[in-house]
Amino acid sequence: MIKPTSFEAPTSDRFVVVVRVNTHCDLSCLYCGFSKDMHRRRRSISVPSLIRFGEVLREFQCDSNRKVLVSLLGGEPFQWHSLIPVSNQLLQFDLSLSVTTNGLALEDEQTARFAMDCMDEITISIDGLGDDHDRLRGGKGMVEGLERIVRRLVSKRGPDRCQTKPRIRVNAVLTRHTIVGFETFAHRMADWGVDALTFNQLGGNDRPEFYPENRLLEDQVLPFTERFPGLQQELRERGLDLCGSESYLHRIACTARHQAIAIDDCFPATHFLFVDELGVASPCSFTTDC
Ligand code: SF4
Repeated sequence: MIKPTSFEAPTSDRFVVVVRVNTHCDLSCLYCGFSKDMHRRRRSISVPSLIRFGEVLREFQCDSNRKVLVSLLGGEPFQWHSLIPVSNQLLQFDLSLSVTTNGLALEDEQTARFAMDCMDEITISIDGLGDDHDRLRGGKGMVEGLERIVRRLVSKRGPDRCQTKPRIRVNAVLTRHTIVGFETFAHRMADWGVDALTFNQLGGNDRPEFYPENRLLEDQVLPFTERFPGLQQELRERGLDLCGSESYLHRIACTARHQAIAIDDCFPATHFLFVDELGVASPCSFTTDC
């Protein structure tokens, strides 16, 4: 019998609102439903609705005495023409901001300056080194460009990581292929000066045709899980926070062996909300259509 589990109770008092501002993108990532190769209707969130929601969040922040972080993603959020004015407006409401991007737009000096000035966190999606990243994302030589971009962001931020913003994070998608080089990749992120590395396993909802041949295998996840605490410690000593807990790894291992785990409490809407490009708010992206 499978024992129901809880997500870990939120440790921070911060309230995070993830907003999918658009569904446009200029890349062809093989696992993504927003890839430019997918024929679908592209939309952006209504600016007045988001500003109004920002006002609501400002009130919530005041009343609850909790800091609200609005985390902007897409699609590719830097393809949304209203990103800069709306971000500036949300900052006026005293909200914190973060952005998740494929990183390409940050090559532009002015765009990078905006991100550095306005964001508490910048998360760049990088799945591996060299071909590992290019193959998944439909480009060539992308990692060299991303290294230049990340190193420049880090250098602009000044020498003291602990006291300066924004936090520079990288998120990687773990596939059957990228998990093989993950340790080398993680150390390379430490070389670049990245503050935090997060990862999620490949999911099958967006591109079910890609999933079976690329999903993680059980015999890959076991050694990964065993090695994880040691790797985490090594990277911590190098100034990189490799994010991931025992329960997170447990869930990945269960998926790899096709084992469903019941969740008895995921603390819905107590620390997190998701808003899609139509302006629908829900406890997470899986519950938007419920
Ligand atoms: S860059 Fe992001 S939004 Fe664009 S196709 Fe890749 S995963 Fe999807």
